[in-house]
Amino acid sequence: MDCLWCNEEIILTMTWSNFLLLPTQRALCVNCAEGLEIISGSRCSICSRSYDEAICPDCQKWRKQTNGEDIILKNYSIYTYNTAIQAMITKWKYRGDYCLGDIFKDSFIKSFEDVFGFLAKESVLVPIPLSQERLNERGFNQAKMLTDFLPMEKREILTRVHGEKQSKKTRYERITAQNPFSLNETVKKVVILVDDIYTTGTTLRHAARLLREAGCPGVYTFTLIRG
Ligand SMILES: [Zn+2]
Ligand SMILES: [Zn+2]
Repeated sequence: MDCLWCNEEIILTMTWSNFLLLPTQRALCVNCAEGLEIISGSRCSICSRSYDEAICPDCQKWRKQTNGEDIILKNYSIYTYNTAIQAMITKWKYRGDYCLGDIFKDSFIKSFEDVFGFLAKESVLVPIPLSQERLNERGFNQAKMLTDFLPMEKREILTRVHGEKQSKKTRYERITAQNPFSLNETVKKVVILVDDIYTTGTTLRHAARLLREAGCPGVYTFTLIRG
């Protein structure tokens, strides 16, 4: 099998240790895999950013804005944003190379089992949607592809409302007033929102707010990268 990123052949030397690993097919060669930086060590318990204390200043701000309780229960991200993953994501998303998503398949499934496994039976996966225009340009929604890796109930119940204008509003007014999504159906189960990247957390919280306001009991977010 060839490396999905550099196309070099992946040569596996048979040893007892990698013999045990073989069922999870390796998508990248050792060199390319080393470019990806898995978040390890202490992290913010809410947004997954590498951080030494329990809750980072950004998440403390979010809490204050919503009367002490964040609209999301927790975000979990797998990778740190660096130049290697940036290049992969760009080619995958913006240049329509669908297959590159498979680079992340094994780690996405594994992290899901580790972090959200306890919820698997009583929760629903909801991918963050693209607008129709973006979807037409790119041919697929990367968040939808990620949810498809997981053998679980999934529902595409959010629509991205197009043409929002960011006027001269404060950050607080933006996050409370302008929601780029609309919700097509209500959900009475816990939702795990899925997207490729958590950057400021605003997009995911907009989606979470709609779900919560419509009676969803709790929202987690699961993202490949913490920007
Ligand atoms: Zn490679
Ligand atoms: Zn945080």
